Amino acid sequence: MKKISFNRPFLTGKEKQYLEKAVANGMISGNGEYTKMCHSKLVEMTGCKKALLTTSCTDALEMAAILIDINPGDEVIIPSFTFVSTANAFILRGAKVVFVDSRTDHPGMDESAVEALVTEKTKAIVCVHYAGVACDMQVIMEIAKRRNLFVVEDAAQAIDSYYTWPDGRKQALGSIGNMGTLSFHETKNIQCGEGGALLINDEQFCKRAEIIWEKGTNRAAFWRGEIDKYGWVDIGSSFLPSELSAAFLFAQLEQSEEIQRERIRIWDSYDNALAPLIDKGMITKPHIPAYATNNAHMYYLVCKTPEERASLISYLKERDIHAVFHYLSLHSSPYFHKQHDGRKLVMSDSFSDRLVRLPLHMHMSEEDVDHVIATIIKFYS
Ligand SMILES: *Cc1c(COP(=O)(O)O)cnc(C)c1O
Repeated sequence: MKKISFNRPFLTGKEKQYLEKAVANGMISGNGEYTKMCHSKLVEMTGCKKALLTTSCTDALEMAAILIDINPGDEVIIPSFTFVSTANAFILRGAKVVFVDSRTDHPGMDESAVEALVTEKTKAIVCVHYAGVACDMQVIMEIAKRRNLFVVEDAAQAIDSYYTWPDGRKQALGSIGNMGTLSFHETKNIQCGEGGALLINDEQFCKRAEIIWEKGTNRAAFWRGEIDKYGWVDIGSSFLPSELSAAFLFAQLEQSEEIQRERIRIWDSYDNALAPLIDKGMITKPHIPAYATNNAHMYYLVCKTPEERASLISYLKERDIHAVFHYLSLHSSPYFHKQHDGRKLVMSDSFSDRLVRLPLHMHMSEEDVDHVIATIIKFYS
């Protein structure tokens, strides 16, 4: 049996062709033809007001922190069970991060614990749609509205995933809060090696976002012929990717439906075949609430104990299957633990200790998936 890696980036086959075209266009810096094509595609896919490609989701989060004008002392509520960038982007602006626990049925943030953390210094809630599964946006948007807070959605893992409002209306994740961020890192469903996007849903940020994106200059407006010279008008950084990344990404965005269909097929195979173990209560599978959709970003199991997880991971590894755990709670990280207010975030720690992600990528054959499944079943029998 061949080695089954946790992730192997997928190529649609069009990437090279578009890269060559980008090179032939003669302009490979940012905000060219492919960048604009990606922007239109992302607006079409998500329904956001404006999309800006960035060099990473991390950069998109940093842009969001600048746009909502985070200043030293402002508080931001963020789940502890997330990637460091969700918090770092706001820490860089001097924010005080207040970590919230995970739900009991899902590693995503416990929406019901958010309001108690709001103080007069709170400026924003940053929700993370873990595994591409929506947070309960009605709860979050309602708190934000009532307490006058911004909402930034870290939708890094959530492309092609949706939140369903009680009236049945579906809205793409990342297009609900004031802003959303996507990642196109090679571990995500749609990828260009390193890349991301900022989705802006709140009109008031559209113009400034473009300036911050272009190092604090109004160059984007200059390129459109709206002004006759460009200059330094605000703070900013180099957040825009080159046309090479955009060309590569466009090939992936174009094929997103096929990619998604295949990922969902693999996800469903896991889910169906592991059902007996799940039914017997031996492991817990991903929970998808009724208001959320599944974009098959991740298939994970939650083991009973950290020891069980460690032996499952090494059992799989001995059989050439690479399964991995995920985030370590940020509130108890070496960088942050001294700043944390001491609240116990039991569920976040629990998912840190017990969650294991199974291989899920486009290079997996049906046999590969079956092999992973059979090996897990053997481990538990
Ligand atoms: C991947 C990821 C990021 C970071 O994305 P980059 O594009 O690598 O910067 C941020 N947040 C979450 C939840 C992620 O999964």
